[in-house]
Amino acid sequence: MNVILLGPPGAGKGTQAEGIVKEYGLVHISTGDMLRAAVKNGTEMGLKAQEYMSKGALVPDEVVVGIVRDRIVEPDCEKGFLLDGFPRTVGQADELDKALKGMGKNIDAVVNIVVEDEELLGRLTGRRICRTCQRPYHVMFKPPATEGACECGGELYQRTDDNVETVKNRLDVYHNQTSPLIEYYSKQGIIVDIDGAKSVNEVFDQINTALKAKV
Ligand code: AMP
Repeated sequence: MNVILLGPPGAGKGTQAEGIVKEYGLVHISTGDMLRAAVKNGTEMGLKAQEYMSKGALVPDEVVVGIVRDRIVEPDCEKGFLLDGFPRTVGQADELDKALKGMGKNIDAVVNIVVEDEELLGRLTGRRICRTCQRPYHVMFKPPATEGACECGGELYQRTDDNVETVKNRLDVYHNQTSPLIEYYSKQGIIVDIDGAKSVNEVFDQINTALKAKV
């Protein structure tokens, strides 16, 4: 099964991805995580991507499409993959469709997590991430057992793009460039809306019910 996780920044895609890949044995492909790793490693692509990421803008389509294309042909993706944070534009979705067609594959489901903007701002500015395993926490809603530390022992940090100004920009980018994908995948008849305002477990239950129907 190949699945796309769609939704605005802060909708809980990273949190839900953890549970979904475990339950369905999928490979987790997060373009945000891959780009941050490239930035951290100081690669040429990372340096270029950082200019966009620090402003909350989207990295050019050809860069992310290239990363995803290279990743989905890896042998481990044969068991199915979960795309998290990709596609983010109609152009990326078109390129993904083309690449999958060439491989004789398709997307089985698009899980669209819906959350209001006011809620997202609070979630993102309080978010903390593990430097080692990328697991997300929240200072109020999901605090770690030990302050500043992940369950895996890694150090928690605040993403540089999780400040109020950049978050507002990322939400604008979502509404202008990413939300048209809802119609795009509605036309394909593979999208399912999930109420992301509920608790983490309730959101997971909704996703699970939707995906079980596709297996
Ligand atoms: P995320 O971790 O998914 O919130 O992504 C963080 C940042 O990485 C975004 O604000 C973009 O600058 C960049 N990014 C991640 N995925 C994509 C994508 N599919 N297309 C363009 N930029 C992306």
